[in-house]
Order: sequence, then C-alpha cells, then structure tokens
Amino acid sequence: EALNTRVANAKALNAFIVETPEKALEAAAAVDADRAAGKPLGKMAGVPIGMKDLFCTEGVQTTAASHILEGFVPTYESTVSANLWKAGAGMLGKLNLDQFAMGSSNETSYFGNVISPWRRNDGGNAALAPGGSSGGSSTAIAARLCPAATGTDTGGSIRQPAAFTGISGIKPTYGRCSRWGIVAFASSLDQAGPMARDVRDCAIMLEAMAGFDPKDSTSLDLPVPAWEAGLNSDLKGKRIGIPREYRLDGIDDDIAAMWDNGIAWLKDAGAEVVDVSLPHTKYALPAYYIIAPAEASSNLARYDGVRFGLRDLPEGSGLQDMYAATRAAGFGEEVRRRIMIGTYVLSAGFYDAYYTQAQKVRALIARDFEQAWASCDLILAPTAPSAAFGLGEKTSDPLSMYLNDVFAVPASLAGLPAMSVPGGLSKDGLPLGLQIIGKALDEQAVLNAGLAIE
Ligand code: GLN
Repeated sequence: EALNTRVANAKALNAFIVETPEKALEAAAAVDADRAAGKPLGKMAGVPIGMKDLFCTEGVQTTAASHILEGFVPTYESTVSANLWKAGAGMLGKLNLDQFAMGSSNETSYFGNVISPWRRNDGGNAALAPGGSSGGSSTAIAARLCPAATGTDTGGSIRQPAAFTGISGIKPTYGRCSRWGIVAFASSLDQAGPMARDVRDCAIMLEAMAGFDPKDSTSLDLPVPAWEAGLNSDLKGKRIGIPREYRLDGIDDDIAAMWDNGIAWLKDAGAEVVDVSLPHTKYALPAYYIIAPAEASSNLARYDGVRFGLRDLPEGSGLQDMYAATRAAGFGEEVRRRIMIGTYVLSAGFYDAYYTQAQKVRALIARDFEQAWASCDLILAPTAPSAAFGLGEKTSDPLSMYLNDVFAVPASLAGLPAMSVPGGLSKDGLPLGLQIIGKALDEQAVLNAGLAIE
C-alpha cells in the first residue's frame, strides 16, 4: 500500500508523458550480457534516464508536448539519444515540457502542467512551477524518479528548471551536441544538455551526449573532452567575473545573498573574483524574444497537417482551410503567440526594424563576453531572478514569464557553455540556482567551478 501511494504521488507530478520501463530493462539486460561476455561497458551502462519529449525516439511517440504532434511516432532516433543508448543508458520514458519548449514553467504543455516536488516552508501546500521548458526533466530528477535526464536549452530551459528544483544542469557550447532529431524551436540557439543530481553526473552524461555529427551542419567537429576525468574543484589561478549589469535594481534579497555566498565559495576554492561589465545585458531579453520567435515561426511551418501528426480537414474544405484548421487546433496559445510575433518581425515592412536590429544586438552581446574574457575566465551570476513561482501565477502575463529568463538568455545568444548548480535555499525554503558561464568550448572550467560550489 505504501508503494502504491508513492507511485500515485509520483504520477501526480505529471513528469512523464509516456513511460517506457521495458526500454530501461532491455538496456540493463544488454549491459548484463556484455559484462558476462567480458566486453567493455559504456559510460552510462545500465543507467535509467528520462528523455525530454523533444528528442525523436524511434518507435516511441514524440510530441514536443503538443497536440499537433500527438501520435507522431518517429522512424528515427535523435543523435543525442542514440549516443546515450550506445553508452549503455536505458530510457524510462518521455518527459513533459513546455509545448515546443516555449515557456519557463512547463504550463504550456498540451499534456498538463508538471508539479514541482518542492513546497514552501510556510506550512501551506501551494503547488509550484518546476521551471521550464525542461520541467518534466527537473521534476523527475528532483523527485528521484530518475537519476538523470536530457534537457534542451534555447534561452535557459536546462538552467532555470534546474535552479527551481535544486538540481544541476549544463548547456554546453552551441554545437557540442547534435541537434539532429531534436524537434526544432530556434535552431541558432537550441542546445541539448544533461540534467542530474550533481556535477559529476552531468559531466559523465555530457560526455555520452556530445560529439560531432555530420547530419547537423552546426555540429562542432571536435573530439569530446574527458570532462569527468578532468573534474577538479581547485580554482587556483581562475578569475571569476561578477557582471555588474546583473545587479538589477530591486533584486530579490534571497538571490543577492545566494550570489554573495557563491562568490565566497569560489574564493575559498582559490579563485580570484573580479568586477566585469557586460554593457548590453539589458537588450538581451528583447533581442531573444525577437530572434527565438522568428526562427520558431519558420521551423514550425512544417506542421501543416500533411506530414506529421494531427490533420483537421473540415468538410468540403481546401488545402488552405486544412492548414488553418490544423494549426489552430494543434498549437497552444503560447506557440501561436510566438508564431505571430515571429512572422511579424520577419515581415517585409518590419524586418529591418526588429529582426535585423535584434541580430545586431546579438553580436554586441557576444562581443561583451569576448571583452569580459580579457579580465576573467568564468562569470558567476544567478540563474533566475527568483525561486520557483506558484503554478498559474504568471500564466496570464506572458511578459512577466519572459522576464524570468533575464539572466539565462545572454549566454544563449552568445552560444556559450553555462551551468546551473544549487546555490542554497530562499527564506521560504525553496532552492535557488547559481549560474556559471564559461568561454566557448571551456565546459571543463564551468564544471569545475560547479564542483567547487556544490
Ligand atoms: N523560457 C524561454 C522561452 O520560452 C526559453 C525556453 C527554452 O530554453 N527552450 O523561450
């Protein structure tokens, strides 16, 4: 009975869209067979993991948490998931997310919101957002339903849910993990990465996920470093930059205190802390919310009722009606909002005023980081401006939801590796995340700083 209650409680979190325990068992049996045959075992041998339902998995429904892809069963496997299976991992199931990875709270999912396993220490039982878009991943790990899961991060979707649920997650340098077979949101920003309980697990899993893939034209043709073997929490000689523009007016006391603690911990680990400036920070969020929807509007044009999933063909209607009916029925409100913003900023009359400007801002953001690297090796900042907010609290106000991404999007626009690690608890007992941003390709330094903090 106790077990049944635990299973029911776990299911109530709504972290999984589909469960595939048989896949995890198959992988474990294959590992047993290899061990018995004296064959070498992979880095993830027998580890049961959750797969964000944005990764195409052969023979297993892949929905991007949308109605339009409901019932879509890919005939192919994403490169990242294939790499994980090659390393010996097994799939426990497909994890819930914000629809097409658009959101910061997992509330835009067609399959219902995920509930964070955390509660405030005020004696109440208010349900909290698990962060997003990888909210199924963060919750499944925080609730101990799986030891690790994949995430994707376009503008914070690995880091912010990790912060909200007290776990770790790293978005590697753009191009480290192949995007092939991952449902596209904003292709110039999308990156896969691991989410797990600690930094070492993230390092192990990232090694398994990353690597060159000729099927993704933006994949980096570089060997995968031995990140796990390179872990070292001694930060002597490392300079940590504290970006003054991230000290927003009216920053939450809890967040400011956590940031100060993080600085102290890194100093204790031998690092030198320096003040740096990222002058264009305040333009990052508006630029992101032009570029990401622009790319999304183009990527989502393929869901036309012909090739994938849902088709709505009203009686006696033509092709245009089918497109319109299918897309109106198949996309949720937030996805429709992004498509409308995206098509607007790309339209002939407004392209230069919005899209071109946003691309220029993106170049300036990248240059800010380049200039900062003259005086530091890593940047330390909060992952998000607050602890987890309540479910429903921000759903009627998209702008306040977008504002939660303020610290996450600059590293995305610049394509840099960035990690969130637990940084302590807020006054009301909720986890807070510290973010470490590194130079392109320097995941090792990011992981090492993460290790020094945890
Ligand atoms: N919250 C951001 C958005 O809604 C980031 C999402 C993501 O990284 N996939 O666009």
